[in-house]
Amino acid sequence: MKIILASGNQGKIREIASYCDTHDVHPYTDFTEKFEVVEDGATFKENALLKAHAVYDRIKEKVTGDFVVLSDDSGISVPALGNIPGIYSARYAGEGATDKENLHKLIDTLKSAGIERTPAYYTAAMAIVTDKGDFTVHGWMYGDVIAEARGDRGFGYDPMFIPEGYESTLGELDAEVKQKLSHRAKALELAKTVIETVA
Ligand code: IMP
Repeated sequence: MKIILASGNQGKIREIASYCDTHDVHPYTDFTEKFEVVEDGATFKENALLKAHAVYDRIKEKVTGDFVVLSDDSGISVPALGNIPGIYSARYAGEGATDKENLHKLIDTLKSAGIERTPAYYTAAMAIVTDKGDFTVHGWMYGDVIAEARGDRGFGYDPMFIPEGYESTLGELDAEVKQKLSHRAKALELAKTVIETVA
């Protein structure tokens, strides 16, 4: 059974492939050219389904053997700022913004609001599209964001995120710590159960 990832984000691909090392995991670009999907859903779940369907439709004739398409739509929410950037996490600093630009925009927004540290959480919605139907699962990771970047591990907003129970950011902590705690790891555990049960 192949698991085909509907993502071009190298950070996500690396993390998902390492959680699924007993499966045959491929980025969708092994089967078709990279393309953009308009993520105009109102929730992480809707956007995950949009991405997984777009990839499923493009590759279904090109893959041999059994496969599922797995997509991850994720982001960080800061309740003290009205839950931003949420589903806009990837384009918080504008369309096509880099992870670094998004990170520094969120740091600047905290600073402008006079906040040094405040609770925040990551959400991951995963869609699994199969020839038997669609499934979705979620995972969350809670902690705090701080108004500075510390460390260069992980990706995206990790250098400003301190997981619950720690005093270091995900930019400073070992990858194994994130692997145990992360929203993506939790969603993926459920996704693996779905894939092994249904597909
Ligand atoms: P997506 O690719 O549309 O799901 O966008 C995800 C956005 O949320 C990107 O900007 C990521 O940087 C950010 N994000 C999602 N998961 C993580 C994570 O585990 N660490 C840091 N940033 C993340």
